[in-house]
Amino acid sequence: NPDVRQHLERLTAEGIDVVRVTYPDLIGVDRARDVLVDQLPTALRHGLAFCRAVYHTTPQGDVVPVAGGLDAGLPDVIVRPDLDTLVSLPWEPGVASCLGEVEDPRTGSPAPESPRDLLRTVLARCAEHGLHPVVGPELEYFLCEPDPASPAGWRRYSEVSGAVYTAGLRADPDNHLLRTLRMLRDLGIGVTSGNHEFDGGQIEINLTHSTALDAADRAFRFKAAVKELARQEGKLATFMAKPFNDAGGSGFHLHFSCEDGDGTNTFDDPAAPYGLSATARHAVAGVLAHAPALAALLNPSINSYKRFGPDTLAPWLIDWGLDNRSAMLRVPPERGPGARFELRLADAGANPYLLIAGTAAAALLGVLAGEEPPAPLEGYGYDTAKAAVLPMNLPAALDALEADALLADVIGVDAVAAFLSYKREEVARFQRHVTDWEFTEYAYHL
Ligand code: GLU
Ligand code: MG
Ligand code: MG
Repeated sequence: NPDVRQHLERLTAEGIDVVRVTYPDLIGVDRARDVLVDQLPTALRHGLAFCRAVYHTTPQGDVVPVAGGLDAGLPDVIVRPDLDTLVSLPWEPGVASCLGEVEDPRTGSPAPESPRDLLRTVLARCAEHGLHPVVGPELEYFLCEPDPASPAGWRRYSEVSGAVYTAGLRADPDNHLLRTLRMLRDLGIGVTSGNHEFDGGQIEINLTHSTALDAADRAFRFKAAVKELARQEGKLATFMAKPFNDAGGSGFHLHFSCEDGDGTNTFDDPAAPYGLSATARHAVAGVLAHAPALAALLNPSINSYKRFGPDTLAPWLIDWGLDNRSAMLRVPPERGPGARFELRLADAGANPYLLIAGTAAAALLGVLAGEEPPAPLEGYGYDTAKAAVLPMNLPAALDALEADALLADVIGVDAVAAFLSYKREEVARFQRHVTDWEFTEYAYHL
């Protein structure tokens, strides 16, 4: 294959002798195998075998089987390197990384729990109706440094007074953010800017907008790269929703619009209510209608629901507003080619593929149903007289996802079943676990 030969020649010329083949699992964690370049032709021919499981992020790094995993004897999934996605790793000389395509060898089809394929399925459904989503991801995270005195062993990085929202780099004494931005540029992630967020040690980085699968791939590689650079510096970058009791959470805001087949933004219509086309208004209505089920996909951890609440800039109620940051869905003021909504529901811990697929699926359902959204929120958004509350814990959100047959039909019933089974197992493990809070609350007076 001349293509493969060209890739191999380029790798050798660049001094690359190892290719790290990576794919996202159901929860969006990068799973990888390192392949010596001289073994790459074999890997391309036969694919690489990975055990069918999802990485679980305990300190022990447990790998937890998904449906069709342990109960089927932990069979393989096959991962085929996609050399068109190769990029040299700035922090690991001699190593380049590429994405892999996941396939179930028992069927020869994509594995039901492969989130890239799940997103492709949803995008194909959108395309049948002339909708081509364009998305811009915005991610917040906390950077931590070691602290033997704190219970978890980490404290927020460089917490100094004056380290507040967009306060410049006063709070970054060793230029971590600058290094991160440059590394992300070299990786081809497509970042526009980074800033200090509201809380000590909290950073936000904005990615350029692009077509949905490309943006999902970049957001996935972004999270893995940010975590890896921090690790190399002895720090911890965490995208978990609400890591601290005394600080706000981390969101994964998603800017979303749709193009028609010719690349024109279908959300803009100067003559229509709010300057938003019928497509845009129906899409907003769809996201609101399916929000309880979406929460499961966009807020996928037990911790996620501790981020929600009044006065947080994170959502709490199922509402939308015109340039209103206290609403779950905000329509920024730009119109024309920039007409879009910003869905503020997801937390940073969300799997980018499930976030984008879920949002696109709900928008499509809204367009197909042709319903109008309620009047947009005016003013303060955290008033329960104005709108319904989101599910406030993971089990409730999982139940809402299970009950939403329309959404499952667009996303894929097998994929939703795999997600539910994995997440319910997580809930069951948590419910058996005795937390520090319980000891503090009960041990002395009971
Ligand atoms: N940290 C907030 C969240 O959890 C968002 C703050 C902001 O508007 O940037 O979504
Ligand atoms: Mg922010
Ligand atoms: Mg935002």
